[in-house]
Formats: sequence, structure tokens, C-alpha cells
Amino acid sequence: MATAASLYETYNRAPLRFERGEGVWLFTESGERYLDFAAGVAVNALGHGHPHLVAALKAQADKVWHLSNLYEVPGQEQLSKRLAENTFADRVFFANSGAEALECAIKTARRYHFSKGHPERFHIITFEGAFHGRTLATIAAGGQEKYLEGFGPKAPGFDQVPFGDVDALKAAITSETAALLIEPVQGEGGLRPATKEFMRELRQICDENGILLILDEVQCGVGRTGKFFAYENSGITPDIMAVAKGIGGGFPLGACLATAEAASGMQPGTHGSTYGGNPLAMAVGNAVLDVILEDGFLQHVNDVALVFRQGLEGLKDSYPEIIEAIRGEGLMLGIKARVPNVELVAAMRSEHLLSVPAGDNVVRLLPPLTVTAEEAREGLARIERAAEKLQAEKQKKSA
Ligand SMILES: *Cc1c(COP(=O)(O)O)cnc(C)c1O
Repeated sequence: MATAASLYETYNRAPLRFERGEGVWLFTESGERYLDFAAGVAVNALGHGHPHLVAALKAQADKVWHLSNLYEVPGQEQLSKRLAENTFADRVFFANSGAEALECAIKTARRYHFSKGHPERFHIITFEGAFHGRTLATIAAGGQEKYLEGFGPKAPGFDQVPFGDVDALKAAITSETAALLIEPVQGEGGLRPATKEFMRELRQICDENGILLILDEVQCGVGRTGKFFAYENSGITPDIMAVAKGIGGGFPLGACLATAEAASGMQPGTHGSTYGGNPLAMAVGNAVLDVILEDGFLQHVNDVALVFRQGLEGLKDSYPEIIEAIRGEGLMLGIKARVPNVELVAAMRSEHLLSVPAGDNVVRLLPPLTVTAEEAREGLARIERAAEKLQAEKQKKSA
């Protein structure tokens, strides 16, 4: 077996080596086929090898790969305009990842208050169970001890309250609060959607206190929940929003979106990124939007999501010793397990179905948004076989 002895030992990797992908399928070096309902953790939003994305990347590769932000980049102008036209935002900053999009969001919020004469307003309130990335600022924002341990003092200016707790939130607000930061649907935290009422309450609290509302839609955005962005489900709009993962369809791309007012503190020289808005990334991002914004695409997501969710609810009824609950929205679904989630992930992998563990003992199912109803049923059949095996094992043990 090949070893990876020269790599950092930061990842627990499954012993699988994929060399090719096609739609919802991944193929190993030995030619075995896996149904990919992990999609690179919601990154491969249009599956593998989508012809429109491949063509866009190849065409741009023939023209120019990289331009510094010392010059105008047409792909940035086009993609930012399309994002602005289809969201709350007026301004977009391009980055290369989710954590970088969040760094920009955090800086934008702090700088906004600084430019209004309030440099003391730099605190950001976040929510328990959050995940915002692995940079020093975003592990402080996420507040999870397992990611903070051993990396020195936690970056200052992040205060955390329980998810969904309005009273605790109100109590945490001070004259130094700059913004609230929340995932409309917690991904890593275990597929917990914020309720519409909670989202509306957050908006109101922000308005009453001159606080900015930042959404982290890195995982739940770009069609995942059946809307272009998840905030649309609640009828409110944020001031700032971090986007990544699905928007690049597998090419590294992140973006920070903001209203003109929220972005007003970000003047020339305040922020930058060498690769941010790279022409290859812009070509792919524009191609992703061609597909996602096409008439009927989000309807397709909602239709397949309904089939998949109903099937999962059925499995919950059939295998109550394995499945406690089904959670999430659209094609961002989670199984709250009654066995250790990693065991359920492994059992699914034995059935050649890929999924992702999450917090709160949840297994995440994040198929490409292009998944068909037939492929969703194929996935359900594999999940059922995995649950069946685990249930038989459990019954044998207790007998
Ligand atoms: C993945 C993720 C991030 C971090 O994105 P990276 O590209 O890994 O930096 C931030 N927020 C959420 C909600 C995520 O799911």
C-alpha cells in the first residue's frame, strides 16, 4: 500500500484513492464506483466533471491564468455584478476559501465601526456549535475548544452564546459589539437550521443596536437549501455574507458580499489577496452561476430534496435503533444517529456511499445539486443496507 509519510498528520483519511469523477460518481484507481453524497463537503455542487465547468476552465486556461489585482479583471466584474443582482449585496471581495471570506467579513464589520468613529466596537457575537474555518481569527469565532487548544491565546473580540438563545444574545451585547455572525444552517455543528423566527429576531436586534448581521453561507449557500442563498428562507437580508465551497464547484473560490453601507469602511489598501479573483476561479464561478441561476435548477433541487428527505424519514421509521432523527434543509441533510456517527459513515462507505460526519453525532448527506431522483433512491437503498447491517449487529450484541 502506498504511504503518505511526507504529509502533516492533520487528517484522518479513509484508505480510498479516487482518480476520476463523473456526475455523482467517483471511481477508485482499481475501478470501483462510489456514490458521492459528500461532494467534497458541499464543494462539488454540480458533481464531478460537469461539461460546462470543464469547458469554462479549459477555455480560460488557454487565455491567461493569473493577473494581479493591480489591474482590472473582467471575470471579477462579471461575477460580482451577477452576485449583486441576485442577492442583497452591492459589493463583493473575492478570496480563495471559506475562512478567507470570513476574515474579510470580520474585517469589514470592524472597519465599518472604526470608520464611523467607534474603534472600540470590534466584538463579534457567535453561536455555540459554529464552524467558521481554521485560521486564528476563525477558530476564535467558532469557539470550539478542540480547534483552539495549543494555538496560544484565543484571538480577542469573539463572544459566544447558545444557538437560538435570544435572551443570552441580548445579554451579551455591549457598547463594543460590532456584529453577529451565524450560519443559517450549522453544517459541521450538526445540520441545525436557525428558525425563521430566530433569523428575524437577529435582524431586529441588529437594527435596534446599530450592529451588523454577518451570515456564514460557506456551506449552506449557492443552492444547497433549495434557495440561491439560505437567508432567503427567512425573508431577512444580512449586511455581510461569506460564501465559498459550492460557488467554485471544486475550484478554490471564496467571496465576501456586503451592502455598500457595510463595506464603506473598506478603502483602498485596507485588504487584499494575491490569488483572490484569479481569472481561472472567475471563469469557473461564472460557469457555476450559469447553471445554478438557470430557470428550473433550484426547483430541481427542491424536488429531489423532497424525494430524498421522505426516503430518509422512512428509513428512520424502519431503523429506529440506528436513526434518531432527520435534520437539515434542501440537499443539506443530516441523520442524527443512535450509533456512533463514524460507524454509520463507515457502514455506508462499505455500501460504496460517501457521507461526512458532523458534530452532535450527525452524519451529513450533501449530494451534488445535480443529483437525480433516481440517484437519490440509489443512495437511499445503500443507506438502508448500511442501517440494516448495523441494526442486525446491535440486536445480536444485546441478545
Ligand atoms: C467549510 C466551512 C468554512 C471554512 O471554509 P474553508 O474553505 O475550509 O476555509 C467556514 N464556514 C463554514 C460554515 C464551512 O462549512
